[in-house]
Amino acid sequence: MDKNIFCVAPFINLSTTNKGKVRLCCQSKTLDGLHVNKNSLDEIWHGKEYQRVREQFLNNEWPDECVTCKRNEDKNIPSRRDFENKKWIDIAQEPYPTSAMDFPWEVDLRLGNLCNLKCVMCTPDNSNTWYDEFEHFSHLRLFKKDENVRWPVHSSFLDNYQEWVSKVKILYFSGGEPLLIKKHRQIIEFLIEKDLAKNIILWYDTNGTYIDQEWIDMWACFEEVNLSLSIDGSKAVNEYIRHPINHDSLLEKYKLLSTSPSNIKATLQMAVGALNIFEIEYVREYARLFNFNNNLNISIVHWPEFMSLDALPQSILDQVTSMYKNDHSDRIRNMIINLKHNPLKLKELKDYLEKIDQLRNLEHKKCFEYLYRD
Ligand code: SF4
Repeated sequence: MDKNIFCVAPFINLSTTNKGKVRLCCQSKTLDGLHVNKNSLDEIWHGKEYQRVREQFLNNEWPDECVTCKRNEDKNIPSRRDFENKKWIDIAQEPYPTSAMDFPWEVDLRLGNLCNLKCVMCTPDNSNTWYDEFEHFSHLRLFKKDENVRWPVHSSFLDNYQEWVSKVKILYFSGGEPLLIKKHRQIIEFLIEKDLAKNIILWYDTNGTYIDQEWIDMWACFEEVNLSLSIDGSKAVNEYIRHPINHDSLLEKYKLLSTSPSNIKATLQMAVGALNIFEIEYVREYARLFNFNNNLNISIVHWPEFMSLDALPQSILDQVTSMYKNDHSDRIRNMIINLKHNPLKLKELKDYLEKIDQLRNLEHKKCFEYLYRD
């Protein structure tokens, strides 16, 4: 019998990219021709593209937009589809819907590229602070200053949030840095003022630098708030990678969160690559120290390619393999299988860091001396 590949996401969720294009979830490809500032919510949600995908799932067919989930499942890797289906059952506690709801149950907004950090693995599409540097780097040459990433500034969809926001159960905000976005704040204040917040769950991807007591007091009004806090290491490495973050001040924010009301849950999120493979234990220690749930979520840096683990010298890769071969995290154990040094990537990485040092007045060798062994 064919495996059941039904996914609930197109029946309940509307996601945007940070340029305002529309997708089924944060991992699907975008839907042709749709944009939140060009099409009304009704046109998107009940339109032919969403409808086609729903029908495909009801016929047990993979839509082209879902290639990432299909690829993962073909390799027996847990997929976003598993996560979305489980989330519906856990939160809604109802059978899967088989037709479109009147309004999306979940709205996932990537609010452009306004950000205060320029992390070394990021791009100008995700952080406007990269604008003054990206032209120096060949791997960023295809990027340009794109007005579409400012979609939240002149957005009819966001301006008219009162029409749809009271109907949703989950609101997911990402960026850029969502806490910098004025319309995000207006939405939060509106939900509190109308006494709707107590029935709404918030999710955030945030760098954590703007969290303060005022945000915590507002979040306390919601049913639940889940914060995914990006961090890439202990002080020196985190400050190099996530320039110009102040690590000590970030830890003060974590301290504030560790005593916040219990509806506010924080998880640390670390993107692991050649520059922070030795930092995992430090970040796990922060998670323990500040009582963050789930310990630590790990993602793997695949781009820029020269920042992936196989850029590391072979002796370092051998050391990494022996360090983590019995780690309790599947993801970390899988990450170190069959690692083989790629000399071209190491050269590109060193050239990149030299240029970053010049532009930002930093000294990468103080943090990453191990790149020069062998
Ligand atoms: S199958 Fe995967 S990519 Fe497609 S909508 Fe579901 S979760 Fe998203």
